[in-house]
Amino acid sequence: IPSDADAPTIFDKIINKEIPSTVVYEDDKVLAFRDITPQAPTHILIIPKVKDGLSGLSKAEERHFDILGRLLYTAKLVAKQEGLDDGFRIVINDGPKGCQSVYHIHVHLLGGRQMNWPAG
Ligand code: 5GP
Repeated sequence: IPSDADAPTIFDKIINKEIPSTVVYEDDKVLAFRDITPQAPTHILIIPKVKDGLSGLSKAEERHFDILGRLLYTAKLVAKQEGLDDGFRIVINDGPKGCQSVYHIHVHLLGGRQMNWPAG
């Protein structure tokens, strides 16, 4: 019986090319595509092709070590590919208070403008 953590999301349709997206990187494990509502000149989402219960980072288990590493490493590759040589930001929103809206883990890669800290 699939749990909520396995429930399909719109990202499955993007993975299966049932809805279009602008893919910037793809391999057998990971897909990276442009966010439909960009918060910076470069705003890319990096996701695992197989969710395996990883609806969010808070659901991570030891079996996810490899895919978690791949997501971050892909973010680095794509940052380089996008020319973000002066810096970039990685974000993982988790749960309602983290403003997560799609429950299929994803790394946001943001760049191309000055980021601010602690917000924006
Ligand atoms: P979250 O809020 O869960 O951290 O991020 C989900 C992201 O997915 C949002 O930034 C949102 O703009 C993006 N998004 C939602 N639906 C689509 C879609 O159909 N296509 C693309 N490319 N991005 C989407």
